[in-house]
Amino acid sequence: MPALSTRITTLNNDGSDGWEVFYRARQMVAEGQEITELTIGEHDIRTDASVLEAMYTAAKAGHTGYAMVPGVAALRDHVAARVQRGTGVPTTRDNVMITPGGQSGLFSAHMAVCNPGDTALYVDPYYATYPASLRAAGAVPRAVETRSRDAFLPQRAALQTAAPTARSLLINSPNNPTGTVYPRATLEMIAGIAEDHDLWIISDEVYDTQVWEGTHLSPRALPDMAARTLVIGSMSKSHAMTGSRIGWIVSSEEVVARLIDLATTTTYGVPGYIQDAALFALERGAAFEAQVAAPFLRRRSLALEILDQQQIVRAIPPGGAMYLMLDVRATGLTGEGFANALLDAHKIAVMPGESFGNSAAGHIRVAMTVDDARFADALRTLCDFAKALTVDT
Ligand code: PMP
Repeated sequence: MPALSTRITTLNNDGSDGWEVFYRARQMVAEGQEITELTIGEHDIRTDASVLEAMYTAAKAGHTGYAMVPGVAALRDHVAARVQRGTGVPTTRDNVMITPGGQSGLFSAHMAVCNPGDTALYVDPYYATYPASLRAAGAVPRAVETRSRDAFLPQRAALQTAAPTARSLLINSPNNPTGTVYPRATLEMIAGIAEDHDLWIISDEVYDTQVWEGTHLSPRALPDMAARTLVIGSMSKSHAMTGSRIGWIVSSEEVVARLIDLATTTTYGVPGYIQDAALFALERGAAFEAQVAAPFLRRRSLALEILDQQQIVRAIPPGGAMYLMLDVRATGLTGEGFANALLDAHKIAVMPGESFGNSAAGHIRVAMTVDDARFADALRTLCDFAKALTVDT
């Protein structure tokens, strides 16, 4: 056959997509083994029945044809009002494009701001799709490393080293995989560097309704930042709508107009009945979002209590999101070694920190996505396992 494009064959050019333990666990499930899966960021509840009703009602009423490429006006208006409330920056539907999920937003945002070959920065540890998403858009991804002891917050020196040759910086707060919520001082430091080096900021805010400590702040809210910021939003996490593929990008009118040109040649918009259901879900307000987020807050407290009773596994208490990042270096294993051993010994699947970059080496990410009792049991087993490993070595 003719050769495939370099772009597609080098998407994961580090040779691995970081999901090996996850696939091994899924294979074990397929073989009939009972595995406690604490791997991907998927709620243990399904999309609320009322949202599905709204979807069905919209579809039956005929909203099954082509929808407007930038999104349904009422949904764009609602998102604009929400973002304006959250940032204080005047925002209208012309600042909003509806996307099929945050993932599509990440790709489109980089398509909009990076020329082929431009350096696109992202903060390590990172959500596993980031480097490939940036490569898919033709950019050259470059990681800005952080440290566990800085709560995985990017530091000025590392950003200043990387910024001069870069076109864009992708940040993610609340963060997957670390749960870190960027404080104002970090965002102001980032804003200063973005201005000094004329960088675009792409701000992945898909966990903005899951904040346990501090408050969510968008770089769009900082003085003069709206023009150089593209905010990625999604209803996957906030409304347990992962499978509906619905999110948005918020930016300047000029950027959004270009994004609409791109969407016309790629997704051609998002199904109208999904958008109607999304609007319905958003209109259910903050109480509904708190209800979707509540299990993670509860399990976070459970976990911190369990982890407090031992000294081997060190937690970096998550400020937000649905994950725990645990330092397992005291066991002498890598994150990958620990995750594989835990899966074999106790049928508990977690993600190796290495799947999310060098900065999370020697850590594991635990998704808080099974019911409370099972979650607490799994964590206790994990801690006992770590202790036994430490005694053995
Ligand atoms: N960004 C982050 C940080 C994520 O964790 C995810 C999903 N796990 C996404 C973006 C993409 O989410 P979606 O495409 O479902 O909106």
